[in-house]
Amino acid sequence: MAKKIKLNDKNTEFYEKIVELSGEQVALCDQCGTCSGGCPFIEEMDINPSEIMRKVMLGQKEVMDSRTMWICASCFTCTVRCPRELDVSKVAEALRQVKLRTAIDEINIATIPKEEAKKLPTIAIVGNFRKFTG
Ligand code: SF4
Ligand code: SF4
Repeated sequence: MAKKIKLNDKNTEFYEKIVELSGEQVALCDQCGTCSGGCPFIEEMDINPSEIMRKVMLGQKEVMDSRTMWICASCFTCTVRCPRELDVSKVAEALRQVKLRTAIDEINIATIPKEEAKKLPTIAIVGNFRKFTG
């Protein structure tokens, strides 16, 4: 028997925030799984793209503990294939924005060994600090 899930105000608030930031009508997702099936980065993700959509739809804030929104490379493979014309990468971007507003850094600059930092391309370092720090 199907389990009934009731949304409370907090679930709804989170869902509406992600819709507002992403511009995507997440509730239109019919969970077909096409996005997950074609994502080239799926093996690196702990939650697949269609699950991300489902959790956002249900207003489950815990979705932000997932690595997936950081792994999504905005390659748009899912976007061009989605039968509902939804853009999962925009949803991932919205989740990152909300997470970064909590000002909790995902990486600590001080933990990168100096010798390793010297070898990293500057653009990659700057790009990742912008993406992973609040
Ligand atoms: S392809 Fe589109 S409709 Fe299908 S699960 Fe992914 S986001 Fe939802
Ligand atoms: S945009 Fe993100 S979720 Fe979609 S296929 Fe590319 S990496 Fe996967």
